[in-house]
Amino acid sequence: MALEPEAIGGGSARSHYRHSGEFGVSGVLMGLAGGAATAAILAIPYSYAAVYIPIAFFIVPFVFGGAVGYVTALGAKHGKVRNAAVVLLLGIVAGAVAEYAGWVFWILAFSRHELFVLNPLAILDVMQSIAPKGAWSLRGFTPTGAVLWGLWALEAVVLMGTSAMVAAGMNRSLVFCEQCRKWCERIKRIGPLAALDRSLLRTLASRLEKGDFSALLALKKVSPTSKSYTAIEILGCDSCRGQSYLTVKSVTVGKDEDGDREKNETDVVDRLAIGADVRDQLMALSAATSVADLPPAGTPAGGRKG
Ligand SMILES: [Zn+2]
Repeated sequence: MALEPEAIGGGSARSHYRHSGEFGVSGVLMGLAGGAATAAILAIPYSYAAVYIPIAFFIVPFVFGGAVGYVTALGAKHGKVRNAAVVLLLGIVAGAVAEYAGWVFWILAFSRHELFVLNPLAILDVMQSIAPKGAWSLRGFTPTGAVLWGLWALEAVVLMGTSAMVAAGMNRSLVFCEQCRKWCERIKRIGPLAALDRSLLRTLASRLEKGDFSALLALKKVSPTSKSYTAIEILGCDSCRGQSYLTVKSVTVGKDEDGDREKNETDVVDRLAIGADVRDQLMALSAATSVADLPPAGTPAGGRKG
């Protein structure tokens, strides 16, 4: 009789959530449609801003790429894509569309509406004619030639890279119920609970993975104004109440350089599969503490007000 790998070690090692990797043509098309449409629309304000306020261009490509990646991920989510690598590729393609559309409208704005060029080779010709003279100046410095080409290449890398990272990151953060073929949207948040001390911070993940939840269940409720605390999130399917997943976050609240409240969250454990018994025990803990329902999974980081 063959032993199950889990039985060999004696303990019952628990697993973390992983996407099944499944996706269909419709999901790919929805991701691309969302990303490309966002790229085409946002390219207009993006390009005009590039012509008139060049200084902004050390930040704006990240915002543009991020928005394109975000909507790409939303489209892929709508199309039930459970594969972060596929969504990463979709993000790169959507970022390339953003780069292309950015050039079309930039040339239109830069030429004072004289040139509307759609052919990518013709766009390259226009770039070649602009590069020796330069396109903009900053504090008396006008990048030309190789320097300007380098900056243009950097912009392309930022657009496609940001789009890809945001899209894949968002997809990776979601949980799908294969049984009901739907995303698990509801998160139950439990806490704030006492902060983990250093030794617990180091060992908690392996304890939980071995099925020992006692340390977690022993954490006491603390004041919502605590500077550091532990938060628990339980994620599961609304329809079948089948598999549940546990995320434990170590949270610290401080001030950023502008003196604004800044919340830092570190995942101690990320979406560990738990049984119904543990879920119910943790939920009982929530009845004894304060509970707040969070917005659906996939809300961009920083989008929720702390
Ligand atoms: Zn389900």
